[in-house]
Amino acid sequence: MKIAVVGAGAMGSLFGGLLAESGAEVWLFDIWAEQIAAINQNGLNIEKDGHSRRVHIKATTDPDHIEKADLVIVFVKSPQTRPAADIAGKLVGSEGLVLTLQNGMGNADIIAETVADDRIVAGTTSHGATLLAPGRIRHAGTGATIIGMWAGKNLDHADRIACVMTQAGIETEVVQNVQSVIWNKLLINVGINAITALTGIKNGQILDLEITRNLLQAAVEEAMSVTRAQGIQVDEDTVEHVFQVAKATGANRSSMGQDVDNKRLTEIDAINGAVVRIAEKLGLKVPVNLTLTALVKTLQHLF
Ligand code: NAD
Repeated sequence: MKIAVVGAGAMGSLFGGLLAESGAEVWLFDIWAEQIAAINQNGLNIEKDGHSRRVHIKATTDPDHIEKADLVIVFVKSPQTRPAADIAGKLVGSEGLVLTLQNGMGNADIIAETVADDRIVAGTTSHGATLLAPGRIRHAGTGATIIGMWAGKNLDHADRIACVMTQAGIETEVVQNVQSVIWNKLLINVGINAITALTGIKNGQILDLEITRNLLQAAVEEAMSVTRAQGIQVDEDTVEHVFQVAKATGANRSSMGQDVDNKRLTEIDAINGAVVRIAEKLGLKVPVNLTLTALVKTLQHLF
């Protein structure tokens, strides 16, 4: 299978690297010239559990070098999904598929502006990766990857992708209703990301003060009502689950926190902002998410 990854940062390089190691023909595409030059010069260096290995993989800043691919994986941060989707639309062959495992809501809808929606596979992953330097990443955590068809009913497409990913060591499950999986992951990011981004604290510090815990709970409960209002099932104990995630990842800065620290655009529009947009359409009020979104957007306006 020929695979093109659009956005060869931490996650794109990780998935591209693992798929290349399993024998797929993989191309990494990124607009970040230093990253591509380092990978072309020295290979992609993947660190895991204190060991490092080198993967030889094709990488380019020019999508014309890739020609058509059977699978295009979009792994940019959500503010860059639109230009990445344009590239994905050009790269995907007529029988090809586009996969997004990005965080947040709205990425698949943006990709559907350039790719037929029955060719889009979406989902979530619990793998984690960190960029250490150009051409060097750390595989920081492993876990389940869950995918499904965004609009189409033909699960054969998703099954095919799951098979290729599982062979590459990315254990992947296919589900019928992937929207529910994406919303349930979103609820975690809704509770943790904006609060940590705005305050500079680590995930675990949310639990230190009752007032901060209450803020997390209010943001998540609003998002749970928006999720349920769309007919999507939400686990009753979601708030408790988000507290558990904050505890388990206690020493980490959330990805949105790191974006703010590095003065980069955040994924706020795809996380709390998505809750606000959908709530408006449904006639629901979500003042906590509206406030968190407004504050993060105000902060990033200063970058
Ligand atoms: P990243 O910032 O490390 O990588 C994004 C890459 O996209 C960068 O290399 C950037 O140069 C590139 N890019 C930007 N605009 C582009 C364009 N127009 N065309 C091609 N490339 C472009 O981000 P990441 O941590 O890999 O995250 C990617 C997505 O995966 C996000 O939605 C994130 O929330 C999600 N995610 C990340 C993790 C993680 O552990 N890092 C885990 C699960 C999900």
